[in-house]
Amino acid sequence: MSRTADAVIIGGGVTGASLAFHLASRGVKGVVVLERKFLAAGGTGRSVGVIRQLYPSPETCRMVLSSLRVFQNFREVVGGDSGYVGCGALIGVSPAMLPSLERSLEIQREVGIRAELLPPHELARLEPRIDPSGLGAVLHEPESGYGDPTAVTLGYAAAARDRGVAIEQGVAVTEIRVDGGRVTGVVTQNGESIHSRVVVNAAGLWAGAVAALAGITLPIVVGRHPVFIVKRGAAFGPPHPVYLDLAGGTYVRPETGDLTLTGSLVEDETRHPMDPELLGNEAGFEEAAEALELTSRAIPALADAHYQQGYAGAFDITPDWMPILDESPVRGFYIAAGMSGHGFKLAPAVGQMMAELITGGRTTVNRAPFAFDRFAAARRRGESFVGSFLGSS
Ligand SMILES: Cc1cc2nc3c(=O)[nH]c(=O)nc-3n(C[C@H](O)[C@H](O)[C@H](O)COP(=O)(O)OP(=O)(O)OC[C@H]3O[C@@H](n4cnc5c(N)ncnc54)[C@H](O)[C@@H]3O)c2cc1C
Repeated sequence: MSRTADAVIIGGGVTGASLAFHLASRGVKGVVVLERKFLAAGGTGRSVGVIRQLYPSPETCRMVLSSLRVFQNFREVVGGDSGYVGCGALIGVSPAMLPSLERSLEIQREVGIRAELLPPHELARLEPRIDPSGLGAVLHEPESGYGDPTAVTLGYAAAARDRGVAIEQGVAVTEIRVDGGRVTGVVTQNGESIHSRVVVNAAGLWAGAVAALAGITLPIVVGRHPVFIVKRGAAFGPPHPVYLDLAGGTYVRPETGDLTLTGSLVEDETRHPMDPELLGNEAGFEEAAEALELTSRAIPALADAHYQQGYAGAFDITPDWMPILDESPVRGFYIAAGMSGHGFKLAPAVGQMMAELITGGRTTVNRAPFAFDRFAAARRRGESFVGSFLGSS
């Protein structure tokens, strides 16, 4: 059994679906998405879906802003509903983090992101339930909030199908064929060969295993990131906005049904490597108690919330917490992975950038910070890596 495709995308998460849409929108015919389970079965379906716009580089700021515009206008631009809720985001930093935050705010302003810096005593004006002690400042992003990663994936997939893309679920790629340093196609679990000169690894938490099929090693660690869900009591009042407490190392994001999703923000996931097959497993009670302690320090009124559930999520993390969006050393074999916990909010821009790259166009955003070989080059230059929010201070 064999057939031919113009491009094969491995992985039907938000990255693969966005890319399929963008390739088809640029006129590429014969795009095939192969998903081993079902759409959004990976990290996407477990994502908290926060959309914040604080990033340490102009490129990521531009990408998140353009993605935000897509989420806000999803029905017109793509079709379907992104689940975007523009409840605003507050980001609290310690006094030591303030200089880095000020530099990032300058980048945000240059790029056109709406954001303002507040001294801690002004926080009460926006959200009196957050404890300002220990904070050096708070960044307010009025347009940030959250969206629904599964809905966005399904929206992109439906729009891609309308443009001729074949989306095949329950089909795992088991081999990647390479000849003379160039990709020539894939083989599926059914033994079917699909010949293609373009194969994209959008396999998220499984990207390392998929890259290995082509003899490529990715510097990606799959790190555990558990999520905890609590139900706010009636006394809590109206829902809180998204709050990212970088000083205290916790976040909260509201959900319908008086629920709050919360977890750690200390970026220590690489110290907790996880087998991606354990995605969604129940989190332990001790772990939940530790996380909820931080949550109720940030928002004391949440101390009365009722614990509902905790599950194991995971991030595919690169050394600089930024994705790899590039052709690999195997020609025609592209990588769109290593999303490092921001693959939802960047997905519209990632799909666009990868489609521009694959079709030989100029990319709208400078893609140097996402180059495949940047880690080795940075090490040679003795550079340290930036963090995912503020950069090095
Ligand atoms: C708990 C949690 C919270 C998060 N919170 C946020 C957030 O607040 N904001 C944000 O922007 N991002 C967040 N993220 C990150 C974001 O959700 C992910 O980066 C993004 O969804 C990854 O999408 P993806 O398509 O790259 O990968 P995935 O969703 O992992 O998709 C990869 C797909 O590839 C398939 N696959 C694997 N191997 C094969 C194979 N051999 N053949 C065929 N298919 C294969 C898998 O089944 C899977 O469906 C969070 C993630 C998690 C887990």
